[in-house]
Amino acid sequence: MEKGNYKVDENGFYGDFGGAFVPENLQKNLDELNHCFKSYYSSKEFQDEYNQLLRDYVGRPSPLYLAKRLSAKYGAKIYLKREDLNHTGAHKINNTLGQILLAKHMGKKKIIAETGAGQHGVATATVCALMEMECIVFMGALDMKRQFPNVQKMRMLGAQVIPAESGTKTLSDAVNEALDYWIKNTDSFYLLGSAVGPHPYPDMVAHFQSVISKEMKKQLLEHEGTENPDYILACIGGGSNASGAFFEYLDRPEVKLYGIEAGGMGVETGKSAAALLTGEEKVLHGSKSLVMCDENGDVREAFSISAGLDYPGVGPLLAHMKSTKRLNVLASTDSEALEAAFELTHLEGIIPAIESSHALAALGKIKFKPTDIVVVNLSGRGDKDMEMYLKHYAFLVEEEIHKQ
Ligand SMILES: *Cc1c(COP(=O)(O)O)cnc(C)c1O
Repeated sequence: MEKGNYKVDENGFYGDFGGAFVPENLQKNLDELNHCFKSYYSSKEFQDEYNQLLRDYVGRPSPLYLAKRLSAKYGAKIYLKREDLNHTGAHKINNTLGQILLAKHMGKKKIIAETGAGQHGVATATVCALMEMECIVFMGALDMKRQFPNVQKMRMLGAQVIPAESGTKTLSDAVNEALDYWIKNTDSFYLLGSAVGPHPYPDMVAHFQSVISKEMKKQLLEHEGTENPDYILACIGGGSNASGAFFEYLDRPEVKLYGIEAGGMGVETGKSAAALLTGEEKVLHGSKSLVMCDENGDVREAFSISAGLDYPGVGPLLAHMKSTKRLNVLASTDSEALEAAFELTHLEGIIPAIESSHALAALGKIKFKPTDIVVVNLSGRGDKDMEMYLKHYAFLVEEEIHKQ
């Protein structure tokens, strides 16, 4: 199950990154959680229930689709791993289902979670409804306005959504408030949404998302007669879909791994969410990783068109993979991602999430051979992004009119 050099150590570190920087009373909760994860995750009881839900509730395995027109355009064999087809529209449900089963096993009744765009909040509220648990979601007050349909979904699913009014009123503040609440209410279970935060969350979330690369190996063997692609591309917010898509290949250096960050207005402008490319070593939200900082060493606000990538930090596994050169890191700007979203829609009839479009936009930045097998992890679908896409579309139409 564990992976050589990229296996977490017993203190929760990947090389220099990770750990658990939390108050003492939370450390007790984390130890309990880690113990439950270690003993229960590999049990037959957990695996049976988890795998059955992944199949019948989520709709797994997600297809590995050979995108012929996209392949012709970029001169390689390009496959899309269709996480966009999962129940609730993205990879996030793989993780929330895993964690809710741990919570149930630990006898917890109350779940707390943070959310940015609302995708993790919806996936958490979904599994709470399924398992009859109380659900409290912390969400930046500004994000609640920007992503109101997801707030309504969470409420319909029975969750209580609490606005985070501090700081910039976005994801980073929601995590702070969820952690604060947890410190005061240690009987609750914190269901964290990405491969970030204190140990054991990054390791645990990567394991729950590893179903993506486990399926990929089987599907490639079927389609191509080999488990290994030449490239895997995934977008990086906190790093959960990327960790899952890379997981089974960490110790296979012949498979090139590419993580694509949100370049926002351009990495060089400082208005980005490119924590791997521009971050410094710092503790954020309970673990040490690469974090975007200002000249005083304080956390800098992230900037991206994509709410799901709009986070100033990144998970410790990916920071370690970058520092050991296992991971190639690129960035796609807001406008490159928008263009890629329209390109996929026109070529393949698939409207991708704006997060996933950042990975798609990297296809034009890598020099492929015609025989290369490339997998892009299509982390989610674009329904939630329609308003923004339509605005961009109106802009494109207007440009067209001006040209004539
Ligand atoms: C949340 C989200 C992401 C970013 O989160 P990671 O933890 O980096 O995977 C990417 N794509 C979609 C569709 C998302 O909802």
